Amino acid sequence: MKTEETDVLIIGAGPAGSVAAGILNNHKISTIVVEKERFPRFVIGESLLPRCMDALEEAGFLDDLEKQGFQTKNGALFIRGENICDFSFDTQFTKGWNHTWQMQRARFDKCLTDNLENRGVDLRFEHTVKSIEFDGSDSTTLVTDKEGNEITIKAKFIIDASGYGRVIPRLFGLDRPSHLPPRKTILVHLKDPYRQKFQQPDRIHAVVQSKDTWIWIIPFSDGTTSVGFVSSPEYFEGLNGSPEENMRTLISREKETRERFDGVDFLFEPRTLGGWSMSTDKFYGEGFVLTGNVTEFLDPIFSSGVTLAAVSSGIAANLVAKKIRGEKVDWEEEYMMPMEDGVDVFRTYVMAWYDGSLQKIFFSSHIEETIKAQICSVLAGYVWDYSNPYVRKHKERVAKLAQMVE
Ligand SMILES: Cc1cc2nc3c(=O)[nH]c(=O)nc-3n(C[C@H](O)[C@H](O)[C@H](O)COP(=O)(O)OP(=O)(O)OC[C@H]3O[C@@H](n4cnc5c(N)ncnc54)[C@H](O)[C@@H]3O)c2cc1C
Repeated sequence: MKTEETDVLIIGAGPAGSVAAGILNNHKISTIVVEKERFPRFVIGESLLPRCMDALEEAGFLDDLEKQGFQTKNGALFIRGENICDFSFDTQFTKGWNHTWQMQRARFDKCLTDNLENRGVDLRFEHTVKSIEFDGSDSTTLVTDKEGNEITIKAKFIIDASGYGRVIPRLFGLDRPSHLPPRKTILVHLKDPYRQKFQQPDRIHAVVQSKDTWIWIIPFSDGTTSVGFVSSPEYFEGLNGSPEENMRTLISREKETRERFDGVDFLFEPRTLGGWSMSTDKFYGEGFVLTGNVTEFLDPIFSSGVTLAAVSSGIAANLVAKKIRGEKVDWEEEYMMPMEDGVDVFRTYVMAWYDGSLQKIFFSSHIEETIKAQICSVLAGYVWDYSNPYVRKHKERVAKLAQMVE
């Protein structure tokens, strides 16, 4: 069996793993990235938030991403029947990016890994982590390649960015169930020939069907669009046809989707995903840190996943660089606390969405522009801007505002 050595081993080459690898490459720290799939591969998470642009820029990806011609995202439109709530990032409270992108993740993730490979980062596709042993902060990881060959990698530090794979939490029993009820989605990419007839045609739309059920419509720059229905598992129970028949039934049930997508071609057979909300006991330990989805994933409603993945990995990679240089790192204060704070802000908005109070706020005609701008900054991912009262006192402010509009 081959044994190799590196300063840092990164597990996973999604946005979290790639941002970490880009930043460690800036620090000139020896790194191996192992990724179990061959890219491009399908993964969900197609609408970004402006806040992730800082992390993508720091990791060295922005120039390459700008050349991809992805659909610019400069706001989000929420629709409930005849009621519309339109957020434009131009009007947000926090000084920051006013745009980002909507795109197929297969293309986005491939652009990040191409960039890393062009910079000489040691990235190995179709390499799957099977087991890890820690000896203090040193680790020995067993990896298999696609032919089944075994390799051991000795590393001074591991960044677990394995997303839904949750490698370290699974191996070491750190998983903690989420407090959010289970939800499910059926999604597809489809042609969108009538797009221009609709309000804000290139903008992401979140269509509310009921308190529990909503639909994402995420237009891409090539004229195709992603559509997903999100609800409790019970909502999908009566659907007994093929995946395509079920999706067409769902599309026909909602005016917004029926008028735009009735009879259009699907680009692949609709996929079903569920049970995505998950958390973990701790985000770090001796010799490892968890970043991106491995730490916590709440819900897709506010498109926070890739942004939290990129930001957490950016912070973590800089701390790992400090650690490798022999400097002291306070993981609790410098990593865990800020990450939990950001996730907590999103959690408040996700919970308020599903208990109906945020929907009351969004579709009320009584919201002052300054308050809307402050909420808009949260939706842009600026959840660490403590000068924003809707960040600093998120729970209290959202609850009070919902009461007021009522
Ligand atoms: C229904 C739904 C809709 C969503 N919509 C959005 C959205 O609009 N916007 C948004 O920002 N987020 C969205 N998300 C969240 C988004 O999918 C994730 O937050 C994001 O992909 C996290 O990035 P990551 O790099 O942490 O993990 P991933 O993207 O999952 O990448 C992890 C990588 O690790 C690899 N890996 C796993 N196990 C191993 C192993 N044992 N060895 C080696 N490699 C391994 C995987 O192959 C994968 O490539 C959505 C999620 C769901 C469920």
